[in-house]
Parts: sequence; C-alpha cells; structure tokens
Amino acid sequence: MLVLSSPFTGQPDRETVHGNAADVASAVASARQALSGWAQSSSAERTKVLTDLADAIAARSEQFALAITAEVGTPEKIAVAVQVGLPVRVLRGFAEDVEQAMAAEIIGNSTVTHRPLGVVAAITPWNYPLHQAMAKIGAALAAGCTIVLKPSELVPHTNAIMMDALAEAVPTGVVNVVPGDAGTGAALVAHDGVDAVSFTGSVAGGRAVGEAAARALKPCFLELGGKSVGVILADADLDKALKSIVNGGLLNSGQTCNALTRILVSSAQLPEVKAKLADLVERMTSRLGPLISQSQFDRVQGFIQRAADEASLTCLAGGTGRPEGVTKGHFARPTAFVATDPAVELVLEEVFGPVLVLQAYDTDEQLIELANGTGYGIAAAIWGEDQQRVAAIAGQLRAGQIDINGGAFNPRAPFGGFGLSGSSREMGIYGIREFQRPVSVQV
Ligand code: NAD
Repeated sequence: MLVLSSPFTGQPDRETVHGNAADVASAVASARQALSGWAQSSSAERTKVLTDLADAIAARSEQFALAITAEVGTPEKIAVAVQVGLPVRVLRGFAEDVEQAMAAEIIGNSTVTHRPLGVVAAITPWNYPLHQAMAKIGAALAAGCTIVLKPSELVPHTNAIMMDALAEAVPTGVVNVVPGDAGTGAALVAHDGVDAVSFTGSVAGGRAVGEAAARALKPCFLELGGKSVGVILADADLDKALKSIVNGGLLNSGQTCNALTRILVSSAQLPEVKAKLADLVERMTSRLGPLISQSQFDRVQGFIQRAADEASLTCLAGGTGRPEGVTKGHFARPTAFVATDPAVELVLEEVFGPVLVLQAYDTDEQLIELANGTGYGIAAAIWGEDQQRVAAIAGQLRAGQIDINGGAFNPRAPFGGFGLSGSSREMGIYGIREFQRPVSVQV
C-alpha cells in the first residue's frame, strides 16, 4: 500500500493498493478465457463496445474531471476538455476505424487478413491517465485483442471510475485491470499468458519493459518521453506563435509527453522574443496547476537549480521555489531560460515540468540540426508564412507529429516518436495495426 498526498496541499489524502502475482495471474487467465470469443467478434460488435465505452466515459465526465484534478493537479477546465474529452474522441475514432481494420486485402494470389495479437498487457502513466489507457484499450479492442491494464499507481480514484465505466460497457473478461506499481507491471510483462506489451511512460521504465519483453520474444510497443520543439520562422505571426507554443509547453504544468518545451527563433529576433517570452511565462503563473507529487516537484526544482548554475544558460522568467504567495502544495514557478550551448542538460533532457528553453539559429541548416539535436523525437511545431520553406523544414524534422501554424491535434492520425521517444504508433488505424499481424492465404 502506498499513501499519496494531494498536489494542492501536500497532505496525505488517499491510498493505493498494489496487485500481487496472484492478481496478475487471475487477470491474465480472465483475458485468455475471453480471447477466442472477442477475436471472433464482428465489426458491428466491436464498434458497439467502443461506442458504449465512449458513452460510459462521457456520462462520467464530471466525476473523472474532479478525480483527475484532485490526483494529478490539472486545472478543472483542462481536465474536462483534454483529460476526459480527448479519450472520448479517441474511442469514437477507433469505432470509425474498425471496419478498415478488419477488412481483408488482396495482394496478387494472396488474401491478407489482420489477426489479433492475443492478450495485450497495457501499462500506462499518470499524466493523462484516462487518455493513455483508452489509447491502448480502444486500439486493442478494435484489433480483436483482450487486455490486462496496469494503470499508474498514483491515480487510484481515476482508476476506480475507469473500472466502473469498463464494467458497464465491455463484455466480462475482455478488459481486466490490475492496479499496482512497477513490480506489478513487471510481473504482468513476464507472464506467459501475455502475448504482447504496450507501455507508455519514462525512458527508464521503457528500457526495463522492453528488455523483459525482448527476452520473452514478445512484441513490445513503447511510447516514451520527449523534448519537443516549437520553431518560429522570421515571417511568422510572432505573438500567435509564441502564445501557442507557451500554452502547449506548459499544458498540465509541462507534464505532457509532447509538450513544446524548446523554442527556436532566428538570432535577429532573439532580443524581441526574450522579452515577450519572459512576459508570457510570468503571466502563466496563476493559470498553472500543481505538479503531481513531492518527488516530481523536487525533480523539477533540481533541473531549475542546475540550469541556474550553468553559465551558458540565462534565466528569463521564474526560477526555483513556489510562486510568490503560495505556501503549500506542489506548485512550481513557470520558468524560461535562454541557451547558447545546445549540449546542456536543460536542452537535452525531459524535465516534465513547467520549464521552457529558448535557442537561436542563423540558417535553416542550423535550425534543423538544433531541432533534431536531442535523442527524442515525438512532436514539433513550425510557425511561418512561406509554405515551401515550412514544408522543406517539416520534411527534415525527426518527430512523429508536426503541427504547422497551430494545426489541431487529430485523434485518428498516428501518434508516436523516434529514438528515445519510442517508435510505436497509437491512435486510429495505425494504432490498431500495432495489435494485429497480417496472415497471408494463397490460392
Ligand atoms: P514511469 O515509467 O515511471 O511509469 C509508467 C508506468 O509504468 C507506471 O504504470 C509504472 O508503474 C510502470 N512501470 C514503471 N517501471 C516499470 C517496470 N520496470 N516494469 C513494468 N512496469 C513499470 O513513467 P511516469 O512517471 O508514470 O510517466 C511519465 C513519463 O511518461 C514521462 O517520461 C512522459 O514523457 C512519458 N509519457 C509518454 C507518453 C507518450 O505517448 N509518448 C505519454 C505520456 C507520458
């Protein structure tokens, strides 16, 4: 059992229990038993279950939003729109993609069908707890797989509401939930009855899960961290671009895997951008929620302190400690630095907190080098009016999602990264295909 504290007060306010090996074994047995029935389900049945699940979540929207705000610290409006609204849209998207996912293809004298991988172990983090679970559950259901979910141990109330919605909408045994910590997750990955693993979380967790899955020769899909970049070209609408990047970078207090936490601007614009960025970031102070836990707060403080001690970085806004006047809770100050050396921790490592770093480029070649200069590659944004130049830059960025001039998130488009961000894809037909394998029948 683990005692958790409120992000808002720092005081203990809830407990979480950890499933043991026997709980894992019974969840896997239940998923195995349900597998043959669900694998043979029709597209109409899968579409109905996905739609029912979306409806069951939408009906609990307020309950989910309150729990996620209390457990993660996400401001309530964003909890409703993003934490709950997004997974509902994602599930409805999967429902629309079921037919394509189940259609046979003809290649010469072969008929190719897409068969479910089997029992999927899904392991998810705490930052968008409902969305991350539904991205995996929705895709696996559409593919004809059954699932054992090991959600994050930090959000027990959210998990309980999720289990209630699943029990209402999904046939018995098709989705099973085992609450628990990394040990519970490791037991699940190692279980013989699990055919494939899908993990979202940190690079360290992904490495451990990936190694264990590789030893057992199980397919393993990883969605890991990021250090995503917002690129501003000289002809862009500067105010709009900066506002959008800062909002994206500080969403959920920076605890977002595809947060735009690096900003690239031309050297000529650097002085103007420094001033505008400092002002925007300072003004975000009252709009951000707290970080999830004391350890996350301490981790972020460590990054800010080491950045302040680094000679090639200059602090533009924020700094260590809580915002002025705030005396309790895990509230960190929104913070921005400008960097002259691309080889420093703050430029290379994911903070997972409200900390942005500004860099300058002189040529497009240098811009590409800086943009691709971390081991991560999950998301990027480009702002500029010259469409040819924007397209040429987009074509050279190593990121799975590239938004141009504020292009909206598309819950049916493939989502995922390169390198340290992991290389699997979630959402829509690409997400479903991860949980299927093609079988060729020749006549
Ligand atoms: P984490 O790796 O500590 O934990 C993630 C999940 O994995 C939890 O459920 C945890 O209990 C479990 N886990 C950890 N180690 C394990 C192991 N060895 N074996 C089995 N299970 C294990 O990550 P976190 O702190 O919960 O989440 C934050 C991280 O997640 C950040 O790095 C963030 O960028 C990343 N993330 C990525 C995406 C994406 O889609 N790429 C989305 C959200 C978050």
